[in-house]
Parts: sequence; structure tokens; C-alpha cells
Amino acid sequence: MISPALTDHIATTTERITIIKPVSGGSINQAYYLATLSGEYFIKFNSANRFPLMFQREQEGLSAIASTNMIAVPQVIAAGELEDDAFLLMEWIPAGISNKKSQTTFGEQLAQMHRHSSSSFGFDADNYMGSLPQSNKRHTNWSDFFRDERLTPMLNIANRKGYLTFNDNHNVEQIYKKLGEIFPEEPPALIHGDLWSGNYIISKSGKPYLIDPAVSYGHREFDIAMTTLSGGFDRAFYEAYHATYPLQPGWQERLELYNLYPLLLHLNLFGAGYLGQVRQAIATYI
Ligand code: ADP
Repeated sequence: MISPALTDHIATTTERITIIKPVSGGSINQAYYLATLSGEYFIKFNSANRFPLMFQREQEGLSAIASTNMIAVPQVIAAGELEDDAFLLMEWIPAGISNKKSQTTFGEQLAQMHRHSSSSFGFDADNYMGSLPQSNKRHTNWSDFFRDERLTPMLNIANRKGYLTFNDNHNVEQIYKKLGEIFPEEPPALIHGDLWSGNYIISKSGKPYLIDPAVSYGHREFDIAMTTLSGGFDRAFYEAYHATYPLQPGWQERLELYNLYPLLLHLNLFGAGYLGQVRQAIATYI
């Protein structure tokens, strides 16, 4: 439940709150719709000490995406801590119906966002992928970045939790030796980093918005790979993406390798039910 202290605090920014309704769909935080005398808002909150700096990092990610001017994100109104709560207050995006036109715009705009580059892979600050910390230490080489800042930290957690066998670890070691041959040369691209169907909204006016990012500069194929895990992205989206900024040949064969990272994350967060998919992804590359 949202605390009276938090609603009172928010009302100093938004004016009087007239409607409060819980919003479902998030996996980590509590979320609410707020109607106020100054308009509609979305708020999410959590205990302040549970995921330190999570909302600041999310705000920085949204701001990095916004600064490309290529795809919309909800405007952040306020972020902070009050008593035991950390909160993020944003513009409310009324969801509309996704259709061919909005999916085409989405594919084009994501491709344009991916043209934004940096001198190395990583990001200025670490952030979170779901509820797990994600290191964005800079590397000039994607294979090193993907191995050291993405796969290995997830494998370490999976090993600590006892999910993986000696054989699983051996197989991943074999894949590590081949990463340089498998991945194409690609410039670091600003990626959303957690692009599943729950992390975009098509607004009532048909405009795509990205939400809840785990940004870094990475291979753009990483974002495309994640879209295939959840469904919810239409053919028009992929066609528009390719027409705007074509992926390199063989991209389909690399998707499972990128998806090893979110699959290991799912294993670590949600349990052994994901072990089959993790092993299948590993088997594809040994
Ligand atoms: P969590 O951090 O818990 O994963 P999300 O940021 O994914 O939470 O938000 C949960 C749900 O709330 C989303 O799936 C989306 O449907 C909705 N949502 C998120 N941000 C907004 C917004 N600015 N306006 C309207 N709905 C939103």
C-alpha cells in the first residue's frame, strides 16, 4: 500500500490527489496510477534500502534514451526517498492499441536510437537488470564486456545457488573461447537492455514509449534478441528495424547467445524452471 506520508509528499508537487489505483505488470516495485488536480501520474516505490539507487539509475537510463531524441520515454517528475520508501514519479502514459503503424514507428525509432554510439561498451554507472545489480564497467571489446560484465556475474550467482553442474561450467568455458568468432564487429550502441513486451507502451495516440530500462552501450543485437523471448513485437516492428538500420548477416543464429544473459537472470531470480532453456542456449554454441 502507498503510505499517507508518500501521497501527502507527492501532492505537494502534483496538487491534490483525487484517484489512487494500483497498477499491475511490474515485477519488482509497487506501482500506482494517480489522478490529481494537475493531471495524471504513475508512481512506483519500494523500501529505500532494498535496491539502493535503483530509481536514480532508472532515471539516468531514461534520460540517456531521451537525450537521443529518437524515441519517447515518460517524463520523470520527481525521484527521491521519504521515510522508508524510495519512489519514482512519472508522467502517466495512457496505453492504446498496438497496430501495424505503431509497431513500424517503434521499429524505426529503436533502430535510430541504436545509432547512438560511445567510444566503448558499458555505461557511466552500474544499474539493475530486473532486481539484480548489473555492472557496466567499460570495455573496448564486446566479447570481453559480455563475458566479464554480463555472463560471468550471472554464472557466479547460479553456481552459488547450486543450479549449474561442472559440465555446464565447462561448456560455457568452451563458448567463451569462441565469442570473438561468433560476434560481429559492431559499434557500441545505446541499448534499452531489458526489452521485453512489458517494457514498452504504445500510447493512445499510437506513440511508442520505452520504460524501465537497464541501459548500456552494447551490441544492438542484444535488444533484438530479448524481444524474441517474450513475444509482443510484431513482424512490422522487425521489418521497420531492418529497413532503418539493417542487422548484420547471421543475426538470427546469435540471438540465443545474447539471450543466455536474461535466461541466466531468470534462472537466478525465478528458479530451476529456467535450467532447460539455459542449457539449450548453451548447447547451441558448443
Ligand atoms: P517494475 O519496476 O516493478 O518492473 P515497471 O516500470 O515495469 O515496474 O511498471 C509496471 C507496469 O506499469 C508496466 O508494465 C506498465 O504497464 C505500467 N507503467 C510503467 N510506467 C508507466 C507510465 N509512465 N505510465 C503508464 N503506465 C506505466
